[in-house]
Amino acid sequence: MHLKIKIVAIISSLLLGVSIAGSLFNYFTDLKSAQDQLQNTSLPLSVDNIYTEIQQRMIEPLLVSSLMAQDTFMRDWLLSGEKDATPIVRYLNEIQKKYDVFTTFLVSDITKNYYQPKGLVDVVNVNNVADNWYFNFKKQSETYEVNLDYNIHLGDALVMFINYKVMDYNQKLIGATGVGVRLLNIEEMLNSFKEKYKYDVYFVDNKGEIMLFSKKLNKRGNIAHIEGLKTLKEDIFANKTSQYEYENKDGEYFLNTKYIDKLKLHLLVEINKKEYIDDLRKTFYINLIASLIITLLVTAIIIYTINIYQKQLVQLASEDALTGLANRRKFNEYFERVYKLYHKSIKTITLILIDIDDFKNVNDTLGHLTGDQALTRVAQILKSHLRTTDMVARWGGEEFSILLLDVSKEDAIKIAHAINSAIKEDQELFELINKPLTISLGLGELTHAESQDGLVYKVDKALYKAKNEGKDQLVIV
Ligand code: GH3
Ligand code: MG
Ligand code: MG
Repeated sequence: MHLKIKIVAIISSLLLGVSIAGSLFNYFTDLKSAQDQLQNTSLPLSVDNIYTEIQQRMIEPLLVSSLMAQDTFMRDWLLSGEKDATPIVRYLNEIQKKYDVFTTFLVSDITKNYYQPKGLVDVVNVNNVADNWYFNFKKQSETYEVNLDYNIHLGDALVMFINYKVMDYNQKLIGATGVGVRLLNIEEMLNSFKEKYKYDVYFVDNKGEIMLFSKKLNKRGNIAHIEGLKTLKEDIFANKTSQYEYENKDGEYFLNTKYIDKLKLHLLVEINKKEYIDDLRKTFYINLIASLIITLLVTAIIIYTINIYQKQLVQLASEDALTGLANRRKFNEYFERVYKLYHKSIKTITLILIDIDDFKNVNDTLGHLTGDQALTRVAQILKSHLRTTDMVARWGGEEFSILLLDVSKEDAIKIAHAINSAIKEDQELFELINKPLTISLGLGELTHAESQDGLVYKVDKALYKAKNEGKDQLVIV
């Protein structure tokens, strides 16, 4: 039993050890490959995808704005004094409809009027912060610029404005025109990056302000005030594209950046290590639980198998292989147990010893195989004459022993005679050895003063006597 527990414990702990080590090894290799994959493939690829997407979104609006700025009708209308707004408003309306943009606009440098498809909505004023964009743009040497703006005139929507300078025929600035495109889809795209890949995507302007960001980004304001990022700011601004790792109270981040020239914005794509480690950790726990279940199952199978083998071993050690009766060892164990109960719960113990007569002859004349069959048949007959609670064993080669508990001497004698006749008259045995098989029997009851061996000795002597007195008989002591 002790050995069994030891074997099960060793195998189970080996299994458990191997599976825990395997799960841990997988976890760490997965962690490393996920990290490599993120830094070298996923993050740079996402940066490029977003960059391409934005570039593509800008091509048409840029083209339309450029056409508007070159349009001789628009230039002529501005130069002729902007007397009637109707034609230019119709023009802005047509362009808006045709290219399905969020808005179109024209600012006249002469009157500072701000025209939209709705009509003349405003006059840009150098003192109005909301109009700063126009005066800043005027000062720049580039012919166009792209602005991201949460425009109050336009219902607080995030709009990408393409501002194009309108020149007269002597290349003198007479206004600015262009289109505004709503960036709703870009916002959706940023949010989907967060949901699908756990990436945070945001845009930072040249001053470091976070301009456009996914909803769940936990950063706002200027990156110069954000722990971890502030030390990278100079570096991010100095490079067109780059990779960083930084850390703050929210976790450790992998960051990839790219500068988008036309927007004058830095695109930042980052992931918090916690986010992907959590996923891997989940897999690790699932693996661990699976291996625990497998270990438990295997342990159960081992215990089950050992139990079966143990039962078989016990049976082998206590059962006679040929006849299926108990062997002498089991008989003695049983005798010892009941001997202890003698005169307590058990009143009488009767021993019958049986020896087949002239069995050597059977073997010599008919062969061992027939001898074996005869022994098996004798065992069957013995069993059929006894209760299941009586002990019958193969005592030796062709010798059998029977222990009867709480059976009166008269009844025991009756049983012995019955067995004797049954064997002698058995048809099967007769066919096997061509003559009746006889047995000699000794019978005795345990007395008070007697030991186990004493009873065996006494009954053995009775059996010997039966042999001496001509066999095929019962001698009682
Ligand atoms: P007796 O009447 O005096 O008992 O004569 P016996 O020939 O039966 O006595 P003995 O003890 O000389 O011989 C017993 C024989 O039983 C010898 C042995 O070959 C045979 N025997 C013992 N075990 C087995 C067995 O398992 N199978 C077979 N076929 N024969 C067995
Ligand atoms: Mg014998
Ligand atoms: Mg014999």
